[in-house]
Amino acid sequence: MECIHCGKTFRGRTDKKYCSKSCYNAHYRLRKEPHLDIIKQVDAILHRNHSILSHLPWKEQNRLVLPEVELKTRGFHFDFHTGLFTNRHGHHFFYVYNFAWSPLPNKMIWILKK
Ligand SMILES: [Zn+2]
Repeated sequence: MECIHCGKTFRGRTDKKYCSKSCYNAHYRLRKEPHLDIIKQVDAILHRNHSILSHLPWKEQNRLVLPEVELKTRGFHFDFHTGLFTNRHGHHFFYVYNFAWSPLPNKMIWILKK
C-alpha cells in the first residue's frame, strides 16, 4: 500500500491510508489549517469592526451618523458583518454583533447600538 501523505509503500491492514501516525497527523493538519486560518482571519476582522464601533463617540444616544471615510480610516471592513436586516421601508442594515449600520446618501453611515 502507498501512504497517501508521503507516498511511501508500507504494509498493514488494507484500510490503512497512512504509513505512520506522524503522516496521519501531518495530512490532517494540512487539510484543516486553511480552514482554521480563514476562520481566524474573519473572526479578527469582525472583532476589529466591533471594537471600532464600540469606540465611536457614543454619548447618551444609541444612534450616530458619520462619514464613511471616518470608519474607513479607523480600518473598518464594510464587507464583513454578522447579519443582515431589511426594515419595512426596504432599508438594509448590516449587523456587527450588537451594532447595525446602514449606508445613507452622500457617503454617510448610519450606526445603531442595541
Ligand atoms: Zn507516510
